Amino acid sequence: MPYSEVTPRISPQPALRRFSLIAGPCSIESFEIFHKVATEVKRLGATALRGGIFKMRTRSDTFQGLGPEALSIVQHVKKDVGLPFVSEITDPRQIDLLAEVVDVFQVGARNMHNYELLKELGKLRRPILLKRGLAAYLDEFLAASEYIMKEGNNQVILCERGIRTFETATRNTLDLSAVPYLQKRSGLPVIVDPSHGTGVRDLVSPMCWAAAAAGADGVMVEVHPEPSKALSDGAQALTFEDFAQMVPRLAKVLEAVEGPTFEIQEHARRKMSQWIN
Ligand code: PEP
Ligand code: MN
Repeated sequence: MPYSEVTPRISPQPALRRFSLIAGPCSIESFEIFHKVATEVKRLGATALRGGIFKMRTRSDTFQGLGPEALSIVQHVKKDVGLPFVSEITDPRQIDLLAEVVDVFQVGARNMHNYELLKELGKLRRPILLKRGLAAYLDEFLAASEYIMKEGNNQVILCERGIRTFETATRNTLDLSAVPYLQKRSGLPVIVDPSHGTGVRDLVSPMCWAAAAAGADGVMVEVHPEPSKALSDGAQALTFEDFAQMVPRLAKVLEAVEGPTFEIQEHARRKMSQWIN
């Protein structure tokens, strides 16, 4: 039986209402693939889409993203699917182009220290999803967020995406203690990216649940219909089936941990849902 016939529509789930579930491919590869992923993750409960247009790849001979070619793809898919779109900006010269389709500008881990980029994004009035640098102390991460806010843009979402440690079994070491630390110190929404945080597909769903249990305001995950054929980060991409299994348990964890004690978080989540939706 095709997979789509066995999985019920999951959204809307009350527990997911104030939690951001951002999902999509690492990179936008084609209209067909992006449309398929977007439709499916929305059906299963995603609240926003992700997809790289400009990529920061370690090696220059690997896929660097479709660049401007992706714009019409995103426009079409957003119109059809109706979810906000998160994508990475790698250079201030991309602002005008990306502003046509991007609802939330992502600053990648490799650019957390690019203060000129942060200052330019601080002049915008759109949310900025700032990722923690590969080896950044939490206080350096918070200091980077100040570069954006100092220019007048307070719509900053912090994203823990794993850091470099001596461990090699995982791509990075996901630091979930960052979640309550950053929330308490900044009052900003804090989300977790377990795809880059682990680099290992089988670890992504458990770390989504753990992030929710730690009080994160959202998670961002990579999803691909055929991870083995993905042009980037296939090893960490969830399949549709993985995503369909992850979401209901995420909702259960959220129900279990939500309560009146999470005031800072309530505040941050309310802010984030105003910015994104
Ligand atoms: C990404 O989100 O695709 C990405 C490149 O993330 P990071 O900057 O965390 O490596
Ligand atoms: Mn990726």
